[in-house]
Amino acid sequence: MVKNNPYLRLVNRNNPVSEGEQIELIRVSAERYMEREAGRAMKKMIQAALNKGVRLNVVSAYRSHKYQAELIEKSIAERMESGMDAISARKETYRSLAEPGTSEHNAGLAADIMCENDTDGDERFENTREFAWLRDNAHRFGFILRYPRGKEEITGFIYEPWHFRYVGVRAAKKIKKQDVCLEEFLRQEN
Ligand SMILES: [Zn+2]
Repeated sequence: MVKNNPYLRLVNRNNPVSEGEQIELIRVSAERYMEREAGRAMKKMIQAALNKGVRLNVVSAYRSHKYQAELIEKSIAERMESGMDAISARKETYRSLAEPGTSEHNAGLAADIMCENDTDGDERFENTREFAWLRDNAHRFGFILRYPRGKEEITGFIYEPWHFRYVGVRAAKKIKKQDVCLEEFLRQEN
């Protein structure tokens, strides 16, 4: 099953997206784009949430390599401005921003979803009704909470309640039911 599903691809430091990879993108909201199938699922999910009075705000989706690099530079600069030394600023930045090509955003398969008027990734997002809706429904549209709490050592990422990754409906349902992260899921399926 894993081999037949390109949406289960692992994207991380060891499995980067090459800069020349052609990704067919579609628009999911205002200025946000995702890979075609993931984007279609995202649009359906946004509409389904809206039907329940929940407004999902996609603050970041597909990112080009260049844009990812800009985000990293900006984050490092901001941390240094607030008094951090260069090495710590870099280290802290890479805990939540992957190097260009090593982010799921570079594959167009992930989206950061927050509340209306919110653009900062913050753990407190988990206390919102937007998050509660996503937690209960995202798998029905093929999305998983990609960097859960308690799995930081395995994923290499801090807990990110706002980052949702498309894997397809069947896999998303299984992953949710088994309460595993993508790495664990792929390990047992292979
Ligand atoms: Zn993200």
